Amino acid sequence: MTTAQEVKTLTHFIGGKLVEGKSGRFGSVFNPTTGDVIAKVPLATVEETRDAIEQAQAAFPTWRDTSVAKRAEVVLRFRNLITENMEELLHIICTESGKTIEDAKGEITRGLESVDLAIGAPHLMKGEYSVNVGGQINAYSAKYPLGVVAAISPFNFPIMVPLAQTSMAIAVGNAVVLKASERVPMTALYVSELWKKAGLPDGIWTVINGDKDAVNELLENPTVQAISFVGSTPVAKYIYETGSKYGKRVTALGGGKNNMVVMQDADLEQVASAFIGAAYGAASQRCMAISTIMPVGKDTADRLVEILKGKISNLKVGPYTNPDSDFGPVISQQSKEAILAAIDRGEAEGASVICDGRELDIVKESKGFYVGPTLLDHVKPGMEVYEQEIFGPARNVVRVDSLEEAIALINKHELGNGVTIFTNDGLAARKFTTEIDVGMVGVNVPIPIPVGYHNFAGFKGSRFGEGHMFGPDQARFFTKTKTISERWMAGNASTASTFAFPSN
Ligand code: NAD
Repeated sequence: MTTAQEVKTLTHFIGGKLVEGKSGRFGSVFNPTTGDVIAKVPLATVEETRDAIEQAQAAFPTWRDTSVAKRAEVVLRFRNLITENMEELLHIICTESGKTIEDAKGEITRGLESVDLAIGAPHLMKGEYSVNVGGQINAYSAKYPLGVVAAISPFNFPIMVPLAQTSMAIAVGNAVVLKASERVPMTALYVSELWKKAGLPDGIWTVINGDKDAVNELLENPTVQAISFVGSTPVAKYIYETGSKYGKRVTALGGGKNNMVVMQDADLEQVASAFIGAAYGAASQRCMAISTIMPVGKDTADRLVEILKGKISNLKVGPYTNPDSDFGPVISQQSKEAILAAIDRGEAEGASVICDGRELDIVKESKGFYVGPTLLDHVKPGMEVYEQEIFGPARNVVRVDSLEEAIALINKHELGNGVTIFTNDGLAARKFTTEIDVGMVGVNVPIPIPVGYHNFAGFKGSRFGEGHMFGPDQARFFTKTKTISERWMAGNASTASTFAFPSN
C-alpha cells in the first residue's frame, strides 16, 4: 500500500537529463486502482517551456545533418529497449492508468508498430527525380525535417499515442518536445531514459510536464514548427485554431462516439462478444471504443439486448493485479463522478437501464475509481448520452428500422472517428463503407483501428487539420518538401538573359 511518504516528486526531461520543476506548481498523479496519490508532477512555467524549446532548437541542426540511416539505427535501438524493458513499462503504465496488464501489453505492441514504421524512414524520405525537364536541367524534390515540433498527448494511452506522435518525427530529423498528459507523466519520463540509452543526442527528445501554460507556449512560440495533438474535441479545436493562428502546421485529433451497426443477418452471439470487448475494454477509455450498438429492426434489437445482458453481467471489474479483471477503474474520481452523473441523466431522459454499473459493490466501496459496465437501451438522438462522448463504461443501444436510418444518424453526429457494421451481406457492407462519413470503418471488425503502417484519423469533430497519427502520412506531416531545379552549364552555354516567363 502506498503511503503519503512514498509520493514521488517528478521532473521534466530537458537537454538529455531529468530537470526539476521551478514553478512551485504541481499536479497530483493517482493510482486509479487504489485512489492514492503516487506522485507530484511539476507544471512548467512559460519560461521553463521556452527554455526547453530553445535547447531542442540548439540540438536540431546536428540531428538534421545526421544521415537518415544513422537516425533509423537509434530508433531501432530504442525499439529494442522497449521490448527489453517491457515488465517495467507495464508496471508503470498500469499503476498510473489503471488499465489491465493484457490491455497495456496490447497498447505497447500497437505503439511499436509506429516505431517500426519510423525505422523505415530512409524509404519514406525518398524524393522524386526527373532528368532533362528543360535545357540541361534536372528537377528533384526532397523532404527536409521541420525543426522543433511538439506533441501534446492524452491520458488514455500513456505510451502508444506518444510513440505514434513522435517516433517518425524523430526519425525524419526533427527535435521533439512532448507535453505528456499530466495524469500519466511517469511513462513519458521512463521512455525518455530509453531514448537516452538508445543514443539519441541530448535535446532531440524533451518532456515538458505541465498544463495550459506549457501548451500555450508551445502553440505561440515561433520556434515550434508543428503541433501534433491528441485529446478531447474541445481542446483539439482550440489547439488547431490557436496553433494555426501562430502559423504552425497542426493536426489535432479529438474524441469519438463510435457506432456498431448490426444487420438482421449477423450472428448475434459473435456480435455481442465483439461488442463487449470493444465497448468496455480499458473501461471504455479509448477514442475508438464502441459507444453505441445500433441493431436494425426490433427483433434484432430484442434478441441482441437479451444476449448482451447475460454477457455484461459476467464481466469482472477489478484491479490490474487480478488477472481475471476484464477492465479496471477510470482515470480519476472526477471522471467517475461525471460518468455516474451522465448515467443518471440518461435514465432521467428516458433511457432504460439494462445493466447498471452504478450498483456494483466495488463502485460503492472501493477508494479506486471504478464504474461498472452499464448498458442503456432506447437511447435517442438529443439525449446527452447519445450526443456527448462519455469516457467510461456507459454504453448505448440505439434502435433503428433500416440501414439507411443508421447511416443518416451516424453521418449527422458531430463526431466521426470510428464505426463498424456486422453483416453477411456484401451489398449492405458496400453501401455502408461508401456512404458513411467517418474516418475509420470496419466490416465485421469490432474496433477498426488501422495497423501502424496505415494512416489513422477520424472526420468531422474527431480531427482538425489534415494530418494523421500512425502511417506513412507522418513522414509527410513532419517534413517539408523542397523542389530543386538544377543545371550545370558547360563553358560554351548561352549567357543571354531571358525576360519571358521560363518555359520548356
Ligand atoms: P484532454 O483534451 O483533457 O487532454 C489532452 C491534452 O491536452 C493533455 O496533455 C492536457 O494537459 C492538454 N489540455 C487539456 N486541457 C487543455 C487546455 N484547456 N488548454 C491546453 N491544453 C489542454 O484529453 P484527455 O482527457 O487526456 O484524453 C481523453 C480524450 O482524448 C478523449 O476525448 C479521447 O477520445 C481523446 N483521444 C482521441 C484519440 C484519437 O486518436 N482521436 C486518441 C486518444 C484519445
